[in-house]
Amino acid sequence: MEELPTTMRAWAVTTPGPIDGEHSPIAFIKKPVPTPARGEVLVKVLTCGVCHTDLHVTEGDLPVHRQNVTPGHEIVGKVVACGPETSRFKLGERIGIPWFRHACGVCKFCRSGHENLCPHSVYTGWDHDGGYAEYVTVPEGFAYRIPARFSSLEAAPLLCAGIIGYRAFERANVPAGGRLGLYGFGGSAHITAQIAIAQGMEVHVFTRGKDAQKFALQLGCASAQGAYDPSPVPLDSSIIFAPVGDMVLPALASLVPGGTLALAGIHMSDIPAMNYQRAIFHEKTLTSVESNTRRDGEEFLTLADRLAIHPAVSEYPLEKADEALRTVKPGDIKGACVLRVSED
Ligand SMILES: [Zn+2]
Ligand SMILES: [Zn+2]
Repeated sequence: MEELPTTMRAWAVTTPGPIDGEHSPIAFIKKPVPTPARGEVLVKVLTCGVCHTDLHVTEGDLPVHRQNVTPGHEIVGKVVACGPETSRFKLGERIGIPWFRHACGVCKFCRSGHENLCPHSVYTGWDHDGGYAEYVTVPEGFAYRIPARFSSLEAAPLLCAGIIGYRAFERANVPAGGRLGLYGFGGSAHITAQIAIAQGMEVHVFTRGKDAQKFALQLGCASAQGAYDPSPVPLDSSIIFAPVGDMVLPALASLVPGGTLALAGIHMSDIPAMNYQRAIFHEKTLTSVESNTRRDGEEFLTLADRLAIHPAVSEYPLEKADEALRTVKPGDIKGACVLRVSED
């Protein structure tokens, strides 16, 4: 077993606020390598995806849950130490660490298969230090095995963008062979589009970025247009990935009677006042997505493997995490940004 260092390089959210050319809310620091507690393993980070939620944590859209938290919740790494009372993973095994870090296991939500709604749940890179660092701990029951098909760079965005997109896809109730609208086309949408197309659905994309529109068409989407454009065809279901409440009314207007709109983000700007007759009558369903269950995660990773999903990634070194966040901020990038922390 390799000798473990006592300190590591990591990013910490020191001054939450908007990230721009001048201000960076995160600082690159040295801190102690964490010790795995009971039921936890210590992981040497190989890669960590940069998710839009990291912006909500660093910019202060979400309240501070832990001072100087290390962001990052799309982590791929190798188990390098096992804490007391662990048995699931062997040293050296490659595992994935997601956003959903722990739930109580005894509340009515946990007991009824809705652990994503547990009021006591905690999240990686918000309540607990995440993967913009060389080492991280995770409760072994909340990690995933990574299918061998995926490189560690490709696997990172599967762990939040992919899993949350899959839950949104499930919540959107797309009928077999139906038409699905995707609003915003970043890390999550480009994976969800592949899942839907591989299952025979017709996907229509709404996003302002011309490059993102072109990328959507390359992936086999049926159409791509501006974020607020009317749909070229009536849609059975839609998912809004962009954190923009202004998209809700145009998205509802493009749905067929009985259609479903799922809002996939953890944070969204205010939704404008809606006219009942125009927006929601005709039995349209408006719903949201909160995190995911571990079952969603296992189902999604199995499906992504079977359907040979190809996440598109841009690689950044760990020390350029602030630059990666600036790239993710405007949205509509080609796929996902991933930090390379150490070599496989
Ligand atoms: Zn619970
Ligand atoms: Zn995320």
